[in-house]
Amino acid sequence: MASGKSSSLADTLTAKGVSRRDFLKFCAAMTAALALPMKYTDRVAAAVASAKKPVLVWLEFQDCAGNSESLLRASAPSVSEIVLDVLSLDYHETIMAAAGHQAEEALKMATAEPGSYLAVVEGSIPTKDGGVYCTVGGRTALDIAREVCGNALATITCGTCSAFGGLPAASPNPTGAVSVQEAVPGATVINLPGCPMNVANLTATVVHYLTFNALPATDQFGRPLFAYGSRIHDDCERRAHFDAGQFVREWGDEGHRAGWCLYNMGCKGPATYHNCPMVRWNDGTSWPIGAGHGCVGCSEPAFWDTMTPVYGRLPNVPGFGVEATADKIGVGVVGVVAGAFAVHGVASAVRAKKDPLPKSQAKIEEDA
Ligand code: SF4
Repeated sequence: MASGKSSSLADTLTAKGVSRRDFLKFCAAMTAALALPMKYTDRVAAAVASAKKPVLVWLEFQDCAGNSESLLRASAPSVSEIVLDVLSLDYHETIMAAAGHQAEEALKMATAEPGSYLAVVEGSIPTKDGGVYCTVGGRTALDIAREVCGNALATITCGTCSAFGGLPAASPNPTGAVSVQEAVPGATVINLPGCPMNVANLTATVVHYLTFNALPATDQFGRPLFAYGSRIHDDCERRAHFDAGQFVREWGDEGHRAGWCLYNMGCKGPATYHNCPMVRWNDGTSWPIGAGHGCVGCSEPAFWDTMTPVYGRLPNVPGFGVEATADKIGVGVVGVVAGAFAVHGVASAVRAKKDPLPKSQAKIEEDA
């Protein structure tokens, strides 16, 4: 585990051999990811370079460890990994060398001072039967979460299980699994849902915190707007095919091979908010829809109950202002396509007018 809270990130990056050029490239990428004007790159760079390592405690409860995998999976050490690595990650059960009493001691020490650390939580929290379905070191996840998240400066939930309950909370929810916010109502929580969350969004959240000393603006589900502010369907590379009524009808058919729209195959992109099309995965090389599979809606609350069956088609497409379905917008129904397209354009314009900048973003624009 990293420690040494006195050295700055600039010292650590230099020691790790990160060039100034690569560092600035990373800061520019983070500025873009946070949807800030590019002139903020210098401010982000100055803040990240001089920041002291915040103490971070990573708790893992009822989950599949996919978010830890997401944190660790990258083909080569990148600046973003290093930024996360140089956080004083004082406790992470899955990857820490310490075990047993030593690990418990590490958690106690890292969280001794209320308000001095950030907590990251992966996994949901079972509440049925006194919370016995998930225990660590003899304590229930509920008990640990209340203490650690209740006293944290802020808690970042990584993945849909900790953000919304996820798969363990899906009907009939045999363990009474809940999200961190439900388990610890008073805690300051920012949600990064997804199966798993994208580590780029975790890095950007931390960079936002280091730069502005505040968490980013969020939507009604506690998700940062920079990452969950736009709909997958609106940024999708297959969107032109949707608008043209070109749909994949069968896996491996001509349309599938040509990269047509996956709506008919169960894609939930029209009802899902996430920046997957822009940030992508595997060092930005691809993402599920790019690889030929529809979106499953994994960053939406209760998606296991509301967006299944995975290969079942959404009944309606939100955003058009009409109950338009892929069948109605099929090839040959030109009038409907044109109408839906026009309505969509108007709806987008109205939405853009209606939704003002989030508070923290508006303040940033004002300062600029
Ligand atoms: S339905 Fe899915 S594949 Fe088709 S344009 Fe929308 S997000 Fe992309």
